[in-house]
Amino acid sequence: MNRPDVSVVMPVFNEGALVERTVSDVLSALSGETSFEIILVDDGSRDDTWHHICALSQQHPSVKGLRFTRNFGHQAALRAGLAHAAGRCAITMDADGEHPPASLPAFIAQWRNGAKVVQGLRADAAHLSFFKRITSKGFYRIFSWLAQTELRPGAADFRLLDRDVVDLLIAHPDASGFLRGFIPWAGYSTTFVEFAQGRRAAGVSRFTTGKMIGLARQGIIGFSVKPLRISMVVGLVTCLFALVNLVYALVMKLTSPDSLVPGWATLTGLIALLGGVQLVVLGILGEYIAVLFQTVRNQPTFIVEETKGFDPPA
Ligand code: UDP
Ligand code: MG
Repeated sequence: MNRPDVSVVMPVFNEGALVERTVSDVLSALSGETSFEIILVDDGSRDDTWHHICALSQQHPSVKGLRFTRNFGHQAALRAGLAHAAGRCAITMDADGEHPPASLPAFIAQWRNGAKVVQGLRADAAHLSFFKRITSKGFYRIFSWLAQTELRPGAADFRLLDRDVVDLLIAHPDASGFLRGFIPWAGYSTTFVEFAQGRRAAGVSRFTTGKMIGLARQGIIGFSVKPLRISMVVGLVTCLFALVNLVYALVMKLTSPDSLVPGWATLTGLIALLGGVQLVVLGILGEYIAVLFQTVRNQPTFIVEETKGFDPPA
């Protein structure tokens, strides 16, 4: 196969207003490269994104498009793009201009120097909302502790992967539901490129709070069994507490039977507490069973409906 040096993979969801501009910035950033491709993955957009992608592909033979049947989410779009990338390395980035195309040569230079992974690090962006900064920081801390895989603050999905790493990801679709965790976990030699997060030129973030929580949950459940262990500890502590309570009640009953006031409040409180703990533990168990179920069911993580600009199969 005739491999280009670099594949740029970009998930695009309802970014019809931005995609042409971002692609033209990427094209000028890559003007020093002789062989590259840009893969735009339309994650089930409901606006004219696909129309723009087709036009771009018509204009520039290096631009290729994939269109999902529906919205499968950012991580699935990244995976699909990587699965279709032919390059000796692949760079994933956002289509909204927040990942500055001008940094691309720095990524490529570090890869040529031998790095298998070049991770973009977002310099603390003052214009990001307080909520986004605080939740992102908190999550990275919790994740690093739970999964025992260090997530560098500001390390998002702007990164370069060598062919070896891309092949590994393709071979293990389940492990890669949360690329931010999988890549550092895999342990390849990594260097970092700091970048100043650009501003979205139009539209609003497509990452709703629901999608953010979903990603965080997927990351933790997919990478750590600690929540199961913690629920066991919580269960054990609760049992111990109940036992001590029982012994105390028995001793009181035997030594001074009249001192025991019927304690309805304590009783109902304890029942509620125990019920709550049990439900939480069941919920955590359920999350893991859900992951098992999805893995066993082996359902595709995305479905491509149409492609544009790729060579027809030989
Ligand atoms: N995106 C996607 N599918 C989604 C949500 C987002 O492909 O369901 C894309 C989006 O078009 C953009 C990137 O993922 O290229 C990051 O999304 P966004 O800028 O909305 O998130 P934020 O930068 O606010 O985290
Ligand atoms: Mg963005």
